[in-house]
Amino acid sequence: MKANIPNRIILPEEKTPTQWYNLRADMPEKPPALLNPGTGEPLKVEELFPIFCEELARQELNNTDAWIDIPGEVLDYYKTFRPSPLHRAYRLEEELGTPARIYFKFEGNNTSGSHKLNSAIAQAYYAKAQGLRGLTTETGAGQWGTALAMACAHFKLPLTVYMVKGSYNQKPYRRSIIHTFGAEIIPSPSDTTNAGRAILAQMPGTTGSLGCAISEAVEKAVTNEGFRYVLGSVLNQVLLHQSVIGLESKAALELYDEYPDLVIGCAGGGSNLGGLIAPFMQDKLQGRANPRILAVEPASCPSLTRGKYVYDFCDTAKVTPLAKMYTLGSGFIPGANHAGGLRYHGMSPMLSKLYHDGYMEAVSYEQTTVFGAAAEFSKVEGILPAPESAHAIRAAIDEALKCKETGEAKTILFGLTGTGYFDMTAYEQYLNGTMSDVIPTDAQLEASEPQS
Ligand SMILES: *Cc1c(COP(=O)(O)O)cnc(C)c1O
Repeated sequence: MKANIPNRIILPEEKTPTQWYNLRADMPEKPPALLNPGTGEPLKVEELFPIFCEELARQELNNTDAWIDIPGEVLDYYKTFRPSPLHRAYRLEEELGTPARIYFKFEGNNTSGSHKLNSAIAQAYYAKAQGLRGLTTETGAGQWGTALAMACAHFKLPLTVYMVKGSYNQKPYRRSIIHTFGAEIIPSPSDTTNAGRAILAQMPGTTGSLGCAISEAVEKAVTNEGFRYVLGSVLNQVLLHQSVIGLESKAALELYDEYPDLVIGCAGGGSNLGGLIAPFMQDKLQGRANPRILAVEPASCPSLTRGKYVYDFCDTAKVTPLAKMYTLGSGFIPGANHAGGLRYHGMSPMLSKLYHDGYMEAVSYEQTTVFGAAAEFSKVEGILPAPESAHAIRAAIDEALKCKETGEAKTILFGLTGTGYFDMTAYEQYLNGTMSDVIPTDAQLEASEPQS
């Protein structure tokens, strides 16, 4: 029967999710509360209203409702690119000679090229519904900026994107797409904010950082009437929206009586992984199944595998609330790595708690071995993966090779979060042998360690 599983499974419309799943509601121990950095007290929802849309602030603190209706307008938009296909990687299995059955959920089939559109469209919807005048955000590698620009174009909502100057200069076509969708895009640091001007005065030639871009985007939002700031990862609300990835995957596997022994995802701030694993983790928490859950991170930015589980700021400029999470310290600047979307010092507080309590494992890989997996995968499966996604591919290949040794026919599911068309410079470096691996020393990690 299992031989009849198609190469590409598309969930029928009547089985596609109409609600997001909020895993926190089913966690026996909740992630520790966000704290107000001024008072050290748990944040109240009203305290988030000046920065975030009200409904999103409520979702952020909601630890009780397991299921939240996806608004009709968001569902309509999802229909333009969802359900995303669940692929059976037959050719990869054959290439590896593994008895494992490998599945991947492919989120790169929309123009923005990644899973980030799942949350971008929801966030833009709530901003529009609240009657806001516009949004601000930051983008590093550019995937989040692109997704949010698409979503804001749909709802005719003005958007200002602060893009880290280094990537702004390195990825000119990323910024052209964002511009085409009608968003204003400003290289950060810029002279449009106090934060940006201060940094420019100190370091005129700097290529910027995510922390600095966040400070500029937050300042722009709070100093402009009717504007709010939105974020594309880390937050509970983002993991909530991304639960569509896991819900669709589980339903698609069920059509063929399949259930994963192992679920693998790359982890930057944790949004795709949190979304992919959500319904499987529910089964695990409620004792219905016991799949292994594996987070994959870059060796250059190893938050889970080498960070500490403490309260820390979510940004470098220390303007955001304090979150208890695995962190390398908000001052940690990761070494050069082409998986821009994984260069974040912290990790989703929810995933941090699950990892801390032993429900999840984590592993880190150096970028040359990750690009090796990307190249191998692209040749057999015909999809050019994003460097971030390739971390999950690396781990899936290694787990499938272990199955080859033991002869176990495990079912492996991994998240293929996006495409890598704007990362060809990185692919070139890998192919011509000039790519290097950067791994922080213990002394470097100690230097940026969080204080709390
Ligand atoms: C942003 C991004 C990631 C990492 O972000 P998470 O919030 O950890 O999911 C992974 N893959 C792609 C393609 C991305 O754009």
